[in-house]
Parts: sequence; C-alpha cells; structure tokens
Amino acid sequence: MRLVVQKYGGTSVGTPERIRKVARRLIETQRDGCQVVAVISAMAGVTDNLLKLAQEISPEPTKCELDNLLSTGERAASALTAMAVNALGGRAISLTGAQAGILTDRNYTKAHIANVSPRQIHELLSDDYIVIVAGFQGQTPEGETTTLGRGGSDLTAIALAGALNAEACQIFTDVDGVFTCDPRIVKEAEKLHEMAYDELLEMAGSGAKVMQSRAVEFAKKFGVEFEVRSSFKKSRGTITKEETPSMEDVVIRGISLDRHQAKLSIAGVRDEPGIAGRIFSNSAKRLNTMSGVAKLSVVGIGMRSHSGVAARMFECLGRNSINIQMVSTSEIKIAVILDEKDAERAARLIHAEFGLGRLLPAASATQPLALVRRPTKAN
Ligand code: ADP
Ligand code: ASP
Ligand code: MG
Repeated sequence: MRLVVQKYGGTSVGTPERIRKVARRLIETQRDGCQVVAVISAMAGVTDNLLKLAQEISPEPTKCELDNLLSTGERAASALTAMAVNALGGRAISLTGAQAGILTDRNYTKAHIANVSPRQIHELLSDDYIVIVAGFQGQTPEGETTTLGRGGSDLTAIALAGALNAEACQIFTDVDGVFTCDPRIVKEAEKLHEMAYDELLEMAGSGAKVMQSRAVEFAKKFGVEFEVRSSFKKSRGTITKEETPSMEDVVIRGISLDRHQAKLSIAGVRDEPGIAGRIFSNSAKRLNTMSGVAKLSVVGIGMRSHSGVAARMFECLGRNSINIQMVSTSEIKIAVILDEKDAERAARLIHAEFGLGRLLPAASATQPLALVRRPTKAN
C-alpha cells in the first residue's frame, strides 16, 4: 500500500472550517488506497501569540519551558484535526512528536532531529488509522519536549517521510507551490514545476519562508523528494528533488528577499595578519551598526555554467538608481544588501530583467548579455 505524508501549515488549519477541509482531504486520500500520516502545524498566529504571552510573563523565559509552551499549539491543532476526521466518519488518532518517535538533541527552541523511531505510527497505520502528528516538536533522550525552530513542522514532515520511506511527501500551504519570487511581493511570479534541493535551500536560507531551510537540508541529505502545493486547490505544486542536467539550462530559478538584516561596519581595520581573529574575539573598536537594510538574492544552479548574471543584476539596479551596499556570492547565488525601502521594487525589477515568470532557458533569454555556457564555476 502507498504511504503518503501530508503536512498542513498554520493557515491551512487556521479555522474550524479549514480543519474540516483538511480532514476531508485526509479521508479522501485514504479512500484512494493510501496509508496516511498527516503533520499538522499550530493554527495561524498561535505560535506568535504564545511567544508574546511568554514575553509578558518573563523577558527571558527558560528555553525548556518555552518549548513546553510552544509545542502546545501543534498538539491542539493535531487533536482538533483527528476529531474532525472522526466526526466525518473516518478513523484518526493524534500523536505528539514524542509519541511519533521523534528524538532530538537538547538544543531547546532549535533542536536537531537525532533519530526517528516510528514504531507506533506503523502499528496504527496497519490498524487503518489516519495518523495525525503534531509538527514542530520532539523529545530529548531524557523525555523533555523540544521544538525544531520556526517553520519546524516542515522538518517533521520531511523526517517522517524519510523514516517511513513514504512514497510521497506533500507540503500543503497557502500558495500554489514555490514561485519564482514570493507572489505577495511580485504579482507576476510564476509557480515552478520542479527545482533542485540546492536551489530551494538557497532561497529558503535567504528569506523565502515557503519551506524551512533546515527541512530542505534534511530532505537533500536523505534524498526525500517532496511537493509544495496548495491546501485550497487540487492543482499540482512544485517538486523539489535531486538536480537533473537539464535544470542547469535555467540560469535564474528564483529571487528571494530577507528584510530582517542589519549591517555592521568596523572602521580603521589594518590590513595585517591576525586582525580578523582579534575582531571576532571581541576587541572591535568603532563598530557601526545599521538596520533598515534588506538582502535580495538571485538563485539558480544554472549560474554554475553561465556567466554574466552579476553584471546584469548590478546594471539593472544602477539604471534604476538603487544603491548596492554589499555583495556576497555562492556558487549558485548572488546576494546584495540594499536599503529596505528599495527592496520590493528591486525584486520586481530583477524579476522582470531576467524574464522570470516566463522561465526562458538561457539561450533564448530576452537580453542574453554574456549568458554563455562555460566550463568553470562562475557567477
Ligand atoms: P505554512 O504556514 O503553510 O507553513 P508559510 O507562511 O510558512 O506557510 O509559507 C508560505 C508563505 O511563503 C507564502 O504565503 C508566501 O508569502 C511565502 N513565500 C516566500 N517566498 C515564496 C516563494 N518563492 N514561493 C512561494 N511562497 C513564498
Ligand atoms: N507553529 C510553528 C511556527 O509558527 C511551526 C510551523 O508552523 O511549522 O513556526
Ligand atoms: Mg511554514
């Protein structure tokens, strides 16, 4: 029998009616002949509210208590989802992360998954239950509750799909898939049909919150292919998987924006051996900090074999009087730091500049500049 892991995010279970809709989909999936494991996030806004409450009680709550508190959001939503399935005539049971066998280290609020022992899940599946797991949490070897970092229900789903050797892992969310840029910022952004783990990893690590970056890292490490898709529609979403040779034909896969950035500059640094070590061991003098900046990144594995992207990006920003404060690159990413007030306009301009939304292969891009394949790594 096919085993499917489906994860539903906060907006997808944000109201009782939406929880019932999720329950109906779970029952349908089981009736289609699948064993179903559902990972449920806290209802939209609940985790933020719990964090606010904790702050009102104590400016520095102990992390262990914080995890006890935060994990309740997912426990409530998963129990409600199980109730909804049962009320609709299905057969479901909810489990905490610990009951689902998710063992973590003791790094409270950002714990790493050390092991998954899904014995109880297997037993319940063979008794025809739809198994509903509270996302975002696990337990230490001593039995303390931990959470997996913001967006951590994605990680729960990927880890369970890997441990259960699921045939499919579906991440249901409030957009139709992964887009060329956040569709709430660039309305012309287009849904991608497929992308490589490394591309989503770079996008998620640079502010695209559609997937938790640690979840993508885990998926890459254990080869868990997954689909991000809408919980409100039936349409297919975006498959993220190991790269294939043809993926390199698309130079830029997507653009992401991270507003939560600050710039630190240190003046009067001499160019001599040992200086970096002294700065990082805390004797930095004249440290200037600047907030109100954002990071804009363009990402694509095609950049490994095509040059000219940086020049085209910088020229586009220059033509539009947007100042670049800093630049950083990786093999498949170019990122710039900009004034936050320019960030959304810059995202739209760069999106249009590279013809995204139409996803032309490099050879037929509108203004090819130096988009020529070359054998060396280059940005
Ligand atoms: P969930 O609660 O289902 O986990 P999130 O809010 O964590 O959902 O992630 C979905 C959101 O990610 C979307 O509403 C969208 O605004 C944002 N997002 C950012 N970048 C992208 C992108 N490139 N493609 C799709 N969505 C994106
Ligand atoms: N509820 C948690 C959060 O808001 C985890 C998740 O939604 O994935 O970050
Ligand atoms: Mg999320």
